[in-house]
Amino acid sequence: MIVVNNIKGIIFDLDGTLVTSSLDFRAIKSEIGCPEHEDALKYIHHLPSPELRTAALQVIHRHEMNDALSAQWMPGAQEFVHRCLADNIALAIVTRNSMQSSLIKIRNNKIPINQLKTREDSPPKPDPTALLELAASFGLAKSQVMMVGDYQYDIEAAHNANMVSCLIHRCTYPDNKKPPNHQFSGFAEMSEYFFNPPSQQGTLVWT
Ligand SMILES: [Mg+2]
Repeated sequence: MIVVNNIKGIIFDLDGTLVTSSLDFRAIKSEIGCPEHEDALKYIHHLPSPELRTAALQVIHRHEMNDALSAQWMPGAQEFVHRCLADNIALAIVTRNSMQSSLIKIRNNKIPINQLKTREDSPPKPDPTALLELAASFGLAKSQVMMVGDYQYDIEAAHNANMVSCLIHRCTYPDNKKPPNHQFSGFAEMSEYFFNPPSQQGTLVWT
């Protein structure tokens, strides 16, 4: 049972967190004319006409569908998810990806998580709306829910929702941002920390 921080629910990012992703953001941005330092979804949102927005979204959709077909579980993710389910931890996925490509990844990899929020459902991370809706649907306090992701938007969304945040897979995080609550090299290390915390690994004997 997860005893650290009293976590009863976990919200995962999808791409690069639960499953591999080969999305080439630089290529996508170049194709839609988005400056490299700008957020692609925000850029599209502010395009001046519906036609331009639709065309840019179609570019993203094409890249996402290609990526969806090749996505595989990240190392240790499947074991961690099953371990959580065995302990009745409420689970969900929040992704900036589309519903269609997310469902392909979930189905192809048999990811046993029913609650999914995509960019069609809620404003994209770092907006906390999706996270807060999920905590409410879990029937849990925000402090009992942890957001796990591989990118700064995941951590910022958790901070914005006043939830516990966890950065995974040795991802770098900007020095000038509020750091995550937890940081792990991968699911194996995270599983050890949450399911076998030091207090449960035996009694220290002082000599
Ligand atoms: Mg990600």
